Amino acid sequence: MRYSRRILATPSSFIRDILKVTEDPSVTSFAGGLPNPISFPQEALKESACNIIDNYGAKVFQYSTTEGYLPLRQFVADKYNKNFGLNIKPADVLITTGSQQALDLIAKALLNNGDKVIVEEPGYLGAIQAFCMFEPQFMPVTLEHEGLNLEELENALKAGAKFAYLVPNFQNPSGLTYTQERREAICKLFDKYDTVLVEDDPYGELRFKGKKLPYIGAGKLAHSVLLGTFSKTVTPGMRLGYIITQDEELMGHLVTAKQSSDLHTNIFSQYMIADYLAHNEYQKHVDKITALYREQSDSMLSAMREFFPPHVRYTEPEGGMFIWVTLPEGQSALALFHKAMEKKVAFVPGDPFYVDKHDVNTFRLNYTNSTDEMIRDGIKRLASVL
Ligand code: PMP
Repeated sequence: MRYSRRILATPSSFIRDILKVTEDPSVTSFAGGLPNPISFPQEALKESACNIIDNYGAKVFQYSTTEGYLPLRQFVADKYNKNFGLNIKPADVLITTGSQQALDLIAKALLNNGDKVIVEEPGYLGAIQAFCMFEPQFMPVTLEHEGLNLEELENALKAGAKFAYLVPNFQNPSGLTYTQERREAICKLFDKYDTVLVEDDPYGELRFKGKKLPYIGAGKLAHSVLLGTFSKTVTPGMRLGYIITQDEELMGHLVTAKQSSDLHTNIFSQYMIADYLAHNEYQKHVDKITALYREQSDSMLSAMREFFPPHVRYTEPEGGMFIWVTLPEGQSALALFHKAMEKKVAFVPGDPFYVDKHDVNTFRLNYTNSTDEMIRDGIKRLASVL
């Protein structure tokens, strides 16, 4: 066989295929997961690009350290210490090429073929894809309204899972947020086992309802990893994410894994965002994005209340970018997708968010890239095929 087992075992991104269909400008697409361009501070970034060339010269074009640009690591540490009362030092922060790379590095550092990995069901398809490359045995645990199902989680921990990958805030794809009680219960369980807890939080700052909740493991568990990114708040195109862990041994292995992948994250981007963060009010900028997403999610939910039939259920997110819809048992979201495309409206059928289920009755809606009118009209058309 010409190709590796690992590449043959990894599905190509279903979403990319779907996005191709929705490139037709006459289609109203709720399929993407793109941040609204309001989140790109273009003028300020332009200024920062000039500043860093003027101020640092050749340094911004030269090779750099694997761990990342120190002022940026300091900013990340300070942000979490201030917002969550943690005690993170710059040495606990590794700057990655988007948090997507963090998923690859974690799997590279921890997994041998056949090792067990706990994922949420449904779970983030980019993580499923990244882990697939290392030929693990997935242990999907049901994501309930309050968070992971505890009994299933304990069984998977008992079975010796290497790590668990969770998205506790405004999860992709479900939009769900773990409750305080469930977070505490999960932390207690992890305390009993050796499994590494990976909390991925790309959306946490984009909360438009309810109150901020503490992380499950960060600052509490010895083998805990927190992932973050600037993709949803500043720019996904510059590919800037980070891994935070106070497990020094694990951090050492992650740095080695990163060296072998790409030596270091784009240093021009790191200087540029660090300059942007030093000269602009980041929180104000995030507040602006959050206010827009609040309006957009309100528009979508109110159209769904008005037009969707009562047998169709859906989540009501407190932040982030997604709503998750559940059709009655036995109905196919994929079949619905094809009917909806005839009405020129698109979403992501649930299938790629599951590791062992096909033709599911769930699908994901994104609201961050449509105007109020597009949302209302698109939801009305979608309701007509429901
Ligand atoms: N984790 C989750 C849960 C995501 O939704 C995404 C983006 N879709 C990522 C990670 C990857 O983000 P980044 O741009 O930082 O690689």
